[in-house]
Amino acid sequence: VTPVQVTDVDLAPLWSGLAGIGRSPDTGGYRRFAWTPADLDCREWFRAEAAARQLAVETDRNGNLWAWWGDPQGGGAVVTGSHLDSVPDGGGYDGPLGVVSALAAVDVLRRRGVTPARPVAVTVFADEEGARFGVACVGSRLLTGQLEPDRARALTDPDGVTLAEAMRRAGHDPQALGPDPERLSRIGAVVELHIEQGRALADLDAPVGVASGIWPHGRFRLDFAGTANHAGTTRLADREDPMLPLAVTVLAARAAAKRHEALATVGRVDVRPNATNAVPGRATAWLDVRGHNERIVRAVVRDVAAAAGVPAAEESWTPEVNFDGSIGGRLRGAAAEATGADAPALPTGAGHDAGILAAAGRPAGMLFVRNPTGVSHAPAEHAEPADCRAGVAALAEALARLASG
Ligand SMILES: [Zn+2]
Repeated sequence: VTPVQVTDVDLAPLWSGLAGIGRSPDTGGYRRFAWTPADLDCREWFRAEAAARQLAVETDRNGNLWAWWGDPQGGGAVVTGSHLDSVPDGGGYDGPLGVVSALAAVDVLRRRGVTPARPVAVTVFADEEGARFGVACVGSRLLTGQLEPDRARALTDPDGVTLAEAMRRAGHDPQALGPDPERLSRIGAVVELHIEQGRALADLDAPVGVASGIWPHGRFRLDFAGTANHAGTTRLADREDPMLPLAVTVLAARAAAKRHEALATVGRVDVRPNATNAVPGRATAWLDVRGHNERIVRAVVRDVAAAAGVPAAEESWTPEVNFDGSIGGRLRGAAAEATGADAPALPTGAGHDAGILAAAGRPAGMLFVRNPTGVSHAPAEHAEPADCRAGVAALAEALARLASG
């Protein structure tokens, strides 16, 4: 196969259909929460782009989309793609860059006259960010049996709508959810391209990198009880104010993360009644912890719970992922050949569907595209068009090699 040239790639037509969907005019960020109209519009965009390429699209039992180049039953499939949902006011690249690049890579390979020996699937995994129902990578976790269907169906959004009801409203049967070992058995390799969520590639002056692994990651909930009362008439001594242990918890999380060389974040709180002139009656904090290994993450959570004086209830746990070494080597080789630059190996603290599939025993790897701002999950996230083209070229070359036999 002739190496794909970076200059062959034009992503603008793909981006143009997606750019306006779920974009907040106030912040410029995206609000594409799972199974909302914005998410459904993104899915519709994907179906149309796949149809325009004569790729057969199917929705699996868990709401993930698969667009097939070649025979879906062929076995040994090379799976690429990413997700289209977003965090609140997320950037435009986290997720969509992997889907846009996968479709563009198929275009590039076809123009080169490549006929893959193995089927290639461009995927859109459902509800990767977990922004609406609190659990990340729901589509890939259900597919691989890492999330119980009953638990998934009962997850609720902030308005009390269950995931089952949200799916039903969106036309997907929630009773179909569950592990799909037959589909998994047809996957030979997984390559997810993603915008980098830090500044490592910018510091290394490299347009494209390859993931070495993903840190283990847990989400925990801490509930603080108190007594709601009047802010003007309740003496300090008489207060049971749950905001105080919550504040201690936020500071303890920072201190514990520093002590253990890990990352800990309280990015979400729920305070009732949430009024300026009322002592709160109860407060809840959500704690996100990541680190080099499980022992470190558990130590941080233990320290935070001890400082908080309440248990840290585990809402989700994602084990450490070490990506397949042979896929990683092939990705580095393909990226170097396609871009003419060395593709450094990087660990990451962010979870991904490729990591869920790797944990399920599928050979998986990831390509990262340089993000000069280093900002992620915010509108300032960015990738230069030339780097996006380099990412597509690397992905196309990798797919050509992995699908060749
Ligand atoms: Zn993502």
